[in-house]
Formats: sequence, structure tokens, C-alpha cells
Amino acid sequence: MQGKRVVVLTGAGVSAESGIRTFRDNGGLWEEHRIEDVATPQAWLADPSLVWHFYQRRRRQLQDVEPNPAHVALSQLQNGLDSMVLITQNVDNLHERGGSSDVIHMHGRLETLRCEATGRHEKRMNSTDFSDDFLLCTCCSTPSRVRPDIVWFGEIPMHMEAIYRAVDACEVFVVVGSSGHVYPAADLVDVARRHGARTVLVNAEPPLNLDSFDEVHLGKAGELLPGLVRQWLDSEG
Ligand code: NAD
Repeated sequence: MQGKRVVVLTGAGVSAESGIRTFRDNGGLWEEHRIEDVATPQAWLADPSLVWHFYQRRRRQLQDVEPNPAHVALSQLQNGLDSMVLITQNVDNLHERGGSSDVIHMHGRLETLRCEATGRHEKRMNSTDFSDDFLLCTCCSTPSRVRPDIVWFGEIPMHMEAIYRAVDACEVFVVVGSSGHVYPAADLVDVARRHGARTVLVNAEPPLNLDSFDEVHLGKAGELLPGLVRQWLDSEG
């Protein structure tokens, strides 16, 4: 991959070996909840306490988990290549803690919270920021409630301009740990393909969009990626 423009897209599977559960592997439930009950704008309107508690638990969990060899391998790939853009569907901070920089979080981040009045994001990871009581912003003169800084189902993903710019121009497109169910992320491999990129998959199980990949590696990302990254750093293809 040396000398090529590379884009890597990761999904929940890359963090599975760190102990953060995916939802496709749990019968469509995310930590025992139906997605529509905790990860939609309608859920926030109908039962904001349930949604807040759910995401505060996810935010507190960040303090108990560590990056795994897949996160570390991807940061080594990024550091070893001239051009690699890392896009993640994940809302955790494990890529950054594994050594990656400039990670594009298309579905938002747990580390930040968003003012409901102004839409401003702020990093809120102090011990007082993990409370089950609603929190207030620091940007309004009369502080407003903040919401999780997450792109819920039915909302538009973040940074799409930068994402399409990178995907349109890439020569190699790698997907790690994604089931191919969630759009528009699942479609990016076909965008890359239409622009002539070689497409590579590393996933535990065949995803919905398996046919879109030129090269498929089935298995755990933490076990496969360290070896693959060593090969990719040495290869020109
Ligand atoms: P998904 O849950 O739909 O699918 C996960 C995929 O990863 C599956 O295909 C599974 O076979 C594969 N997988 C599981 N363990 C793996 C491993 N050790 N190595 C490699 N692959 C493995 O995930 P998705 O496609 O990312 O879409 C789900 C949505 O859920 C995303 O939008 C994401 O924001 C959200 N989510 C995020 C997190 C997180 O931030 N860590 C966790 C759960 C869900």
C-alpha cells in the first residue's frame, strides 16, 4: 500500500475485542436495548432519561476499556503510509488511544456532548460529567441541556463532505469490523470501487455487502490486522 492513497473505514467489530459490544452480534440489541428505544431522535423526545442513562453508561465504560491490537495496528499503518484517512462509525475513543490521529467520527463521539440550543460540541470527560442527572452546557448565558453527541438513526452523519472527498480519491479502501447494514457507511465501499479503488475487508463474519470486496480476510481484527498491516506496509499494491 506504500505510495497509495488509502482510506480505512472501521465499525463496531474493531472494538469488540476491547469488550465494547457490537449490536449486530447481539440479535439487533445494543446492550439489551432495542436501537429505536435508545438511538433515535424520537427516543430522546419520548424518554430522554432512558437515552441519557444509556449513553452515560457508554461514556463511563470508556474508562474501563483499552485499545486492542487492531487499533494499534491501524495506527501503525497510518504512521507508516504517506496517505491514510481513518474513518470510523464508532463513537468510542479507542482509535485515538491506540495512537491514531485525525480520526473522522462519522456517527459522533461519546467524549463530547452537544448543546441542544446552539449545537456546539464540547469535550466533557471530567468526573463530574458522568452523572445520571442531565448536564448543562457551558456555551449559553442561561445554560441549556446537552444531549449525547451521537448521530442517531434518522440523522445525517457528520463530516460527509470530507468523507466523500477522501473516498472518491482513494486507491485502496479497507473496511474493518462492519456488518454493512448501516447506511451511508455501508455504501462507501461501492463509491470507492466506482472510482477504481481496490477494496479489502477484515471482518469476523461475511457482511451484507461481501460482494463489494476484492480481497476478504475473515477472522478477528485483533488477530489478523497486526500481520496484515506488516504486509501492507511492505507492499506496493
Ligand atoms: P455492527 O454491530 O452492525 O456489526 C459489527 C460487525 O463486526 C459484524 O459484521 C461482526 O461480524 C464484526 N465483528 C465482530 N467482532 C469482530 C472482531 N473481533 N473482528 C472483526 N470483526 C468483528 O457494527 P457496524 O457495522 O459498525 O454498525 C453499527 C453501528 O453501531 C455503527 O453506526 C456504530 O456507530 C454503532 N456502534 C458503535 C460501537 C462503538 O463505538 N464501539 C459499538 C456498538 C455499536
